[in-house]
Amino acid sequence: MSVQASGNLFVVAAPSGAGKSSLVKALMEVDHRIAPSVSHTTRAPRGQEKDGREYHFVDDATFDAMLAQDAFIEWANVHGKRYGTSRQAIDAVIATGHDVVLEIDYQGALQIQQKFPQCISIFILPPSWEELETRLRRRGEDQPEVIELRMANAREEIAQAHHFQFVIINEVFDRALFDMKSVVQAQRLRFEAQRRLRADTFASLGLA
Ligand code: 5GP
Repeated sequence: MSVQASGNLFVVAAPSGAGKSSLVKALMEVDHRIAPSVSHTTRAPRGQEKDGREYHFVDDATFDAMLAQDAFIEWANVHGKRYGTSRQAIDAVIATGHDVVLEIDYQGALQIQQKFPQCISIFILPPSWEELETRLRRRGEDQPEVIELRMANAREEIAQAHHFQFVIINEVFDRALFDMKSVVQAQRLRFEAQRRLRADTFASLGLA
């Protein structure tokens, strides 16, 4: 099975603090036809994170071995740690018949766009630099120098937004969630997507 032959592939990127994870999580709570691909990372688990659920947590040697086996369809170094989407992780979602959502950084998103030109790319923006900084500070988990680093990274990341097909500005959460649902729904109504999903209906109507 391949991504090309099956459901929709959504790629969502954003600078940290834009609210990407919360939006994707909220989307999946209301939309049971879409599921995340579980990435591999060399960073340590945080809080309640569980191996195999949020991420597959691996050491550098394991990540290197997977790279050598060409196991990743994309990977990147983010904030000093490595993250990658394995072919197997995507196939596992496809096998369940779900649309796939990749919540990854922009470097990985650009690699996915190269490999799967039919993917649907979405970039989440904060409403302003001030609001982004406020949100990063509000998290309260990071030291001031970490926040500064994240702001510097955010400038680099936001400069890549023009590579994405859709842009959602996360000013009011519910509005941004509505926008996200709209993008997903619109994609499912495209001719090719409907032909895949409703093959019987198309055939009965004589639409090959
Ligand atoms: P965190 O460590 O906060 O969970 O994630 C840090 C960044 O890495 C986020 O922007 C997240 O979307 C990104 N990320 C998570 N998984 C992957 C992946 O498989 N590939 C890439 N390129 N980035 C990822």
